[in-house]
Amino acid sequence: MKKEKPPYKIVDEKCFICNKSLKREISSSDPNTIWPVYDGISFRATGNYGSTVFDPITDDGFLEILICDECIKKKSKQIKRVRNIQTKTEYKYETGTFKELGQ
Ligand SMILES: [Zn+2]
Repeated sequence: MKKEKPPYKIVDEKCFICNKSLKREISSSDPNTIWPVYDGISFRATGNYGSTVFDPITDDGFLEILICDECIKKKSKQIKRVRNIQTKTEYKYETGTFKELGQ
């Protein structure tokens, strides 16, 4: 009987801070998929105004790093946990005001 392959492959990546090896499941070629990281978390950033390194004016992807759980614990006092991100706002350049888009 042929052994079935899992619907994902495991790849080795590194913690951004300590360089520890982290295993990650990759199940598609879609770069927008957030693939699980064992014993770590993936962080994505789309850049922002003010950065001299990554500030794409148009949609030009994102930067991604992985950080292991141990480094998250060590730096926990520097981490802000944001809740209630249901409300979205849209900036309107014409008026210079924010418009609530609702939940
Ligand atoms: Zn680490």
